[in-house]
Amino acid sequence: MSKVVKFGGSSLASAEQFKKVGSIIRADKERKYVVPSAPGKRFKDDTKVTDMLYECYDLAEAGKDFKAALKAIKERYEEIIAGLQLELSLDEEFKVIEKNFKAKLGSNYAASRGEYLNGIIMASYLGYEFIDSATVIFFDENGDFDADKTNEVLSAKLTECKKAVVPGFYGSLPDGTVKTFSRGGSDVTGSIVAKACKADVYENWTDVSGFLIADPRIIENPRGIEVITYRELRELSYMGATVLHEDAIFPVRQEGIPINIRNTNAPEDNGTWIVGSTCQKSKYVITGIAGKKGFCAVNIEKDMMNSEIGFGRRVLQAFEENGISFEHVPSGIDTMTVFVHQDEFMHKEQKVVAGLHRLVNPDSIDIEADLALIAVVGRGMKSTRGTAGRIFSALAHSNVNVKMIDQGSSELNIIIGVANEDFETAIKAIYDIFVITKL
Ligand code: ASP
Repeated sequence: MSKVVKFGGSSLASAEQFKKVGSIIRADKERKYVVPSAPGKRFKDDTKVTDMLYECYDLAEAGKDFKAALKAIKERYEEIIAGLQLELSLDEEFKVIEKNFKAKLGSNYAASRGEYLNGIIMASYLGYEFIDSATVIFFDENGDFDADKTNEVLSAKLTECKKAVVPGFYGSLPDGTVKTFSRGGSDVTGSIVAKACKADVYENWTDVSGFLIADPRIIENPRGIEVITYRELRELSYMGATVLHEDAIFPVRQEGIPINIRNTNAPEDNGTWIVGSTCQKSKYVITGIAGKKGFCAVNIEKDMMNSEIGFGRRVLQAFEENGISFEHVPSGIDTMTVFVHQDEFMHKEQKVVAGLHRLVNPDSIDIEADLALIAVVGRGMKSTRGTAGRIFSALAHSNVNVKMIDQGSSELNIIIGVANEDFETAIKAIYDIFVITKL
């Protein structure tokens, strides 16, 4: 049995936090593989070490003096080492980093040093082996993650090491150059390590006790989600719920390894379990609500549209030609509406409109801006009658006008379009009806 434990930046921001992490790891002997992030913020206005590294490298690249900036980074690590009373010096490591910054080895290399150095400290603190991720996590010539090669090399390495620290966020290209994942990518490393050692669980430790049913900036003290399926999570995260990097789901999902989101500052909380499928009903009909503002609806009307073969494809072609992705396409007998991100669409709208005229010769095109989309997600909706009815009566009672409804055939989610200004009211109304009053 083994568990992979990934700790986020705020869990490793100081020696105090490291000590909490140490006791979490020591409390369970199955916690054999540890994936650390770089030190994050110690307080609200603090700077993450990753950001300090990017800034420092920018100076180096511009040929400016970066000594003071690098010293400030070194001090962050030295503070941790001193607080943990370790016999460890990073002097040699920093000499190499300084040399490589001067040689302009790239901002990916620069950023990766945050995790790399924290990994060295973590390994020394725990007495675990340190594995440099550049030797076990690979990208191909195009810069895409090479899952097969990584799994082969990493599995073999982990079979040799019974307990190890594998820093998050980076790997290497075929020529050995260091490359990082996108921001927040240590989550992805954790998932890759869990797959490679066929872990029983991937524990992702952060500073919240898992996912919440709704955004706490809108709902005061929302309840937590105990169990969520990967599919539900995909629906929620694409709508803006962030705790876990999106790409972290795929490696473990293929292997059926559950992810457990936990709170380093409240280790007694069970957190959220992300699973493939479950017979556990969620407490409420809905598992979560998420949404985003800033959409435009492009409404295309044409008589007899329904009998014109290829109409939909040509409509979408007008968007594709301008590099615009669409979110939803609800349609009626003679109308088709395309929901797009306003910020992306704004600059190209007249081009798209001209394209639509050329491609489908519509009777009219009408654009409505400042719309929000809300996803109400829950595996429980399938077996419950009247979910949509309850949502709409709640919205009607709160004076929210519904502009669009889209229910996927999986009955896993209902997407609702409302005006931007009704966004918060709508989320409150839906939360209230399903979670507070449970009518
Ligand atoms: N340190 C990196 C970042 O700040 C990666 C991570 O923490 O997951 O994005």
